[in-house]
Amino acid sequence: MARTLTATMRAVAVTPKQAGSARQVELPVPRVAAEMALMRVLEVGIDGTDTEINDGLYGEAPPGFDFLVIGHEALSIVESVGEGVDGFEPGDLVVSTVRRPDDCPNCRAGESDMCLFGNYTERGIKGAHGYMGEYYGESPAFMVKIPPSLRPFAVLLEPLSIVEKATYQAWKIQERMLWAPKRAVVLGAGPIGLLGTILLRLRGLEVHVYAKSPPESSQGRILSSLGASYRSVGDHPVTSIKDELGQIDVILEATGNSAVAFQAMAQLGTNGVLCLTGVSAGNRSIEIPADVINLQMVLGNRVTFGSVNANRRYFEMGVQHFQQAERQWPGIFQRLITRRVPFADFTSALDRRPEDIKTLLTIAAA
Ligand SMILES: [Zn+2]
Repeated sequence: MARTLTATMRAVAVTPKQAGSARQVELPVPRVAAEMALMRVLEVGIDGTDTEINDGLYGEAPPGFDFLVIGHEALSIVESVGEGVDGFEPGDLVVSTVRRPDDCPNCRAGESDMCLFGNYTERGIKGAHGYMGEYYGESPAFMVKIPPSLRPFAVLLEPLSIVEKATYQAWKIQERMLWAPKRAVVLGAGPIGLLGTILLRLRGLEVHVYAKSPPESSQGRILSSLGASYRSVGDHPVTSIKDELGQIDVILEATGNSAVAFQAMAQLGTNGVLCLTGVSAGNRSIEIPADVINLQMVLGNRVTFGSVNANRRYFEMGVQHFQQAERQWPGIFQRLITRRVPFADFTSALDRRPEDIKTLLTIAAA
């Protein structure tokens, strides 16, 4: 459908590195060029990255701009497609990936999440506008089609893709030996911890989640309906996990607390794998039981690895696991969406409240 060049749209932008600068901006609606699609945004998930960008900790404006449109977790609908776009048509539901490749060998192979040169951009984070506006332009290479039945919770696909990658990589690493994992520990009960628990339960593991919230919190109830145990670190410190549970085959660290990450290394069982997914923005130094960790890592063939971002392959895995998990635990993903905020109240959406799991900014009605 034709749009005039003067059509404008609302978006939420920050001045990078300036705390509390989130504001509404007016931008032209992107033109529908060849090989591109125009996306109309339905809703955007808020995560710690958005909050930290608005706190001025990081974020980078695109070339030629002094502001950055934030938002990297969006569910959108295809408004129109340019010439040469195959496989998508107006009305299709889409979640876009976040990272855009540079020309390193890994990016050229479709694995920009494993970028070597570091010159990638990330929509809504680093050098490219994000999705927290009424429209954005997109190349089909970065669009993942969403079956209509997933509409109520498909906005969770981007955070799900993060744990898809983390768990896939953990299992890939463990192909180094005969491995029949039984028990997993997840550290943190935010969206990444909860989505990670769902994937580990789908793989048939016993899962124990350690986090700060009290057991009677909504996180605790969600975890018990998944058949996972929930332990509050107030009563169950991370440093005594292996005494409580015994052999731990997999640990997923999803707190971003570097002290917890190093404590977790000393809790991992023989031949176990620890995946770190949380980033710590500070430059804190801590004291760690270095001899114990070194000895255990060597004598128990243990592995610790980090995992960031996700390429479209992991988004596609997420679409499959959404369907599989919904069959097993109907309504589980909608229970993770704890707050929906209208566009005009975007500043409230960027504030994190203790009872929040996932907050959504509603941009348009479906
Ligand atoms: Zn690269």
